[in-house]
Amino acid sequence: MKKTLKDMDFKGKKTLVRVDFNVPLEDGQVKDATRIQAALPTIKFLLDEEARIILMSHLGRPKGQVDESLRLDPVAEKLADELQKEVVKVDDCIGEEPQKAIEQMENGNLVLLENTRFYAGEKANDADFSCQLAELADIYVNDAFGAAHRAHASTVGVTDYLPSVAGFLLQREINALGKTLENPGHPFVSIIGGAKVSDKMGVIKNLIKKVDYILTGGGIANTFLAAQGYNMQKSLFEEDILNEAKELIEEAEKNNVELVLPDDLVIASEFSDDAERDVVKIDNITEGWQALDSGGPETLAKYKEILQKAKTITWNGPIGVFEFNKFAGGTIELAKIIAESNARSIIGGGESAAAIKKAGVENKMTHISTGGGASLMFMEGKPLPGIEALDDLN
Ligand code: AMP
Repeated sequence: MKKTLKDMDFKGKKTLVRVDFNVPLEDGQVKDATRIQAALPTIKFLLDEEARIILMSHLGRPKGQVDESLRLDPVAEKLADELQKEVVKVDDCIGEEPQKAIEQMENGNLVLLENTRFYAGEKANDADFSCQLAELADIYVNDAFGAAHRAHASTVGVTDYLPSVAGFLLQREINALGKTLENPGHPFVSIIGGAKVSDKMGVIKNLIKKVDYILTGGGIANTFLAAQGYNMQKSLFEEDILNEAKELIEEAEKNNVELVLPDDLVIASEFSDDAERDVVKIDNITEGWQALDSGGPETLAKYKEILQKAKTITWNGPIGVFEFNKFAGGTIELAKIIAESNARSIIGGGESAAAIKKAGVENKMTHISTGGGASLMFMEGKPLPGIEALDDLN
């Protein structure tokens, strides 16, 4: 168990809070404020406790140097809007400017530091950079679940120098994902979609020890189908790991886990939203065509039957190229099937979360993780460095 906000006294304390404000921007404005809103419970709690709140986050991939398009000013504006409160934005995350702004803070004030990834020391988890961040504050709070799988200065390095606790979002994610994996209701059904089996090998191996069914989709299903000997034509699949895919199928069988593959597929004449579209059985893919959506009607009916009896569902990765409207149908339908089920439903972040939104069923899910990579690492059963580094409760 890690220390949380309730274990500390924040009154008047300079509190450095790592949040995940890595939000999409469009024309210099925040396009989707979900991640900002997800951090509000922690920020509001600290405001009520009369802390002096110093927020920090990364944004995009500025490669260790200043990138004018990735400054956090639009984020500060949006946050001020959400809180109806002044947010002092500084143009650096270490050194004189933040130090001065922090000196002038009163209890219950907010300062937002500049993008931590403007410094190479952030990703390198550099001790000197970590120390300079830590010097700004008395206590460190990590509420950035979306970055907790990375050992960076702002997620791990700073914890060497400050008392370090988990924020509410981090705690909520750990509870939701942890409870599901440690004590799931059965049948436990895990849906694994997305592009590559190789990216999710660790997740599949760990889930085989816990679940009753694994429903496959997308490029992942294609690779398993190819491993079973089906001719996938031009579909995306990983030729070089067909043996490993076969071994996974055998391992699932040994563990009494049903690894379920599609029966029919939505195929395309080329990789494009304008492609010709057809629905075929898995053994009948048109020469030169490719599977872009695993959600054929028979597949969806089979998956629905399994999902309807589930007590626990986890979902990671779209079952087709849902970015193309013509091939988003299976993924959207799957989101609706999960929404209709009575199961505890945990959605990994990133693209599955986007698909859930596209289907308009966000409110029907038990938990939608704010971290794609972090939730995958959790599902792999590996410790997340950003969580490990926090202080233990005794
Ligand atoms: P991942 O990051 O591994 O979850 O992969 C997500 C990506 O996989 C999405 O961008 C999808 O477009 C892509 N994807 C899913 N199914 C297919 C498919 N059948 N062919 C090509 N790409 C796919």
